Amino acid sequence: MNQKRIKICIAGAGLAGLSTAVFLKKNDAENLFEIDLVESSPKLGGRAYSFVDRDSGLTLDNGQHILAGWYSATLEFLKICNSQFQLNFQKKLEINFYNTEKKYFKLSCPKIFSPLNLFIGILKFDALGLKDKLRFLKIRKLINREAYSPDYLKKINVSDLLFELKQTENNIRYFWEPFLLAVFNCKTDEINADVFMNVLIEGFSGNGKSNLLIPDKDLNSLFINNAINFLSDNAVEIKLNKRIEEIFKNNQGNFNVKFNSGESNEYSIMINAASFFRLNEIKLNFECDLPKLKTSSIISVHLIFKEYIPEEILKNNSFGMTGLIGTNTQWIFKKSERHLSLVISGADFIEHNGKKLIDLDKEEIIKMCTNDLKNCLSGFDTLEISDSKVIKEKRATFIPNIDSINERKKCNSNIENYYFCGDWAETDLPSTIEAAIRNGKKISEKILKNFYK
Ligand SMILES: Cc1cc2nc3c(=O)[nH]c(=O)nc-3n(C[C@H](O)[C@H](O)[C@H](O)COP(=O)(O)OP(=O)(O)OC[C@H]3O[C@@H](n4cnc5c(N)ncnc54)[C@H](O)[C@@H]3O)c2cc1C
Repeated sequence: MNQKRIKICIAGAGLAGLSTAVFLKKNDAENLFEIDLVESSPKLGGRAYSFVDRDSGLTLDNGQHILAGWYSATLEFLKICNSQFQLNFQKKLEINFYNTEKKYFKLSCPKIFSPLNLFIGILKFDALGLKDKLRFLKIRKLINREAYSPDYLKKINVSDLLFELKQTENNIRYFWEPFLLAVFNCKTDEINADVFMNVLIEGFSGNGKSNLLIPDKDLNSLFINNAINFLSDNAVEIKLNKRIEEIFKNNQGNFNVKFNSGESNEYSIMINAASFFRLNEIKLNFECDLPKLKTSSIISVHLIFKEYIPEEILKNNSFGMTGLIGTNTQWIFKKSERHLSLVISGADFIEHNGKKLIDLDKEEIIKMCTNDLKNCLSGFDTLEISDSKVIKEKRATFIPNIDSINERKKCNSNIENYYFCGDWAETDLPSTIEAAIRNGKKISEKILKNFYK
């Protein structure tokens, strides 16, 4: 093989950048690609990572991440890295809820083809009355794409759509709000109906696609450690603590990339997988639109207890996950016998004692969460907390509002051999792991097609 090797720079080792490197090397039969994966921070994973907490000694995630059966590119990535065994696959879609009257509800969808599984689950869901259930069935209209064309959906938001579909207050409170906040992390009237529809289509696209997948281990064990092994076996150079400051296209059509350390390298292909909210920090010598996307926050709370959490307090805890209705704390995950992880999405607009949740201090957040858990779970007030950790991710996701559609589209780079990569780019999905990894896969396929004809 005399062919000259092709030097590729990937800026940013979040899941988009990391997966692009993995997909490229997996299919690089002739070892054509010499890849540098360059990350400004001291760690890989971007917005999905774990760390060792000095106080408790536990490995904690920066936020609970949930996957779904329709995360096809993510599953492929995990398989290449031999990490798929670290996921718990639900056999059927099942979610437990408690409300502030300590009442328990279970949404349990039978193991049959979708969307019939969801309709049957809803018909049996105790939180809803007969009128609510009949109104829920109106979403069948959505599945008929002729009734709701993509052009129409791109112009409206999900609250308009739910109004048109005559969804009841109960349907919104017990089904739509928990689901929408968990997937989109913003207000219902900020979610564009077409992005929402894309998620429904994916979730309804076959058996098991709407089932949830919950990581069995921490995020580094699932996404990062085995990927690093795969990349080092394939001679990908991972450069940590190196921020890319400039990308200049030169007369040969290559890219001169300058790092904060002062050094620079030349590459034939440039994949810009830096976070969407930091793209403007990189200086370019060519015209390129950047996306203007609104961000939204997620607060994660880890509670460590002195003693084991008795079985009866979270006895209906399927796959370690329980939803709370009517409280600011939305989800509880039982990570171990003494460790609960709590999720609060929408922290920029939900308020507590007149303050936005994101502006509360650690003590106020812990107090609010423990009150929420006491209000919903019988016996919780007997538990004693030995340690706690609050993590505020202020730019956890982008808001998939109507404007975001054009912002994402306009950034398709027309510069030869220059690609944008990330959860925001190209896919029309919300800000998720799957959007990031699916985009990484797409870009690797484009590059492979150019060199392996
Ligand atoms: C708390 C929380 C909970 C979440 N929950 C879920 C969930 O349940 N399910 C789900 O699917 N998704 C969830 N997400 C969203 C998911 O984590 C993101 O969509 C995904 O990780 C984005 O990956 P990315 O590679 O596109 O971007 P990023 O993760 O932002 O990666 C970009 C990387 O680029 C680096 N970088 C930036 N500038 C430079 C530069 N100049 N030079 C070099 N490197 C640079 C950054 O340091 C970063 O590592 C959650 C996110 C958070 C924060």
